[in-house]
Formats: sequence, C-alpha cells, structure tokens
Amino acid sequence: MEKRFNNTDFLAKCSVCDSSLEAERIVVIEEKEQKTTLHVTCSKCHSASIVFLSNNQNGLVSVGMATDLDATEVREKIGQEAISTDELIDLHQFVSGAQADIVKLVKGL
Ligand SMILES: [Zn+2]
Repeated sequence: MEKRFNNTDFLAKCSVCDSSLEAERIVVIEEKEQKTTLHVTCSKCHSASIVFLSNNQNGLVSVGMATDLDATEVREKIGQEAISTDELIDLHQFVSGAQADIVKLVKGL
C-alpha cells in the first residue's frame, strides 16, 4: 500500500516560529483515501499545529493551522466533524492567496 506522506517532504514549517517540523513529532489523526490529517508539535516553540493534506487532481495540498488542542483532542474533534475537500481547498486558497497572517486566521475561526 502506498504511503501517503514521507517524513517532512510535504510540510513545511511551524506556522508560529517558521522552523522545520520533525517527522517524529507528527501524529496521524485520520487517514482517508484523499485526505490525511496530522497533528504536529514544533520542537522549537512547542506550538501544536493541525496539518490537513489533500490529494486531488491538483496534486498534494497541505494546509497547517496552529491549535491549542493536543493530538487526542484533535482526534476526537476531527472524528465528529468531517472537513470536506472543498472546504480544504477554500481554506488553502484563502491562506495562499491572501498571504494571511495565520494567527489572525485561526482567531477568526
Ligand atoms: Zn514553532
């Protein structure tokens, strides 16, 4: 079975301090055919982020959001509220289009 992500290739950086995230700090919250949700804790600033990965016709899209929740809480929440690919794409377009301040974005949710 094909692995959907390799280490930190896909992602990026801590949304708070911008340092690289380490693979061993990634917890897979949910893995579906075209969507993977991860929880990552930054080794530098200890901020937690949720990363949504979506695999669609445009390729792999990843969106990170800072969170106060730990991996267990995220798992509970994500289990209840499915996030559709469309919502994910909207979020991604908003984030990349607006050069948005991620903190502002998260506070607005
Ligand atoms: Zn950080």
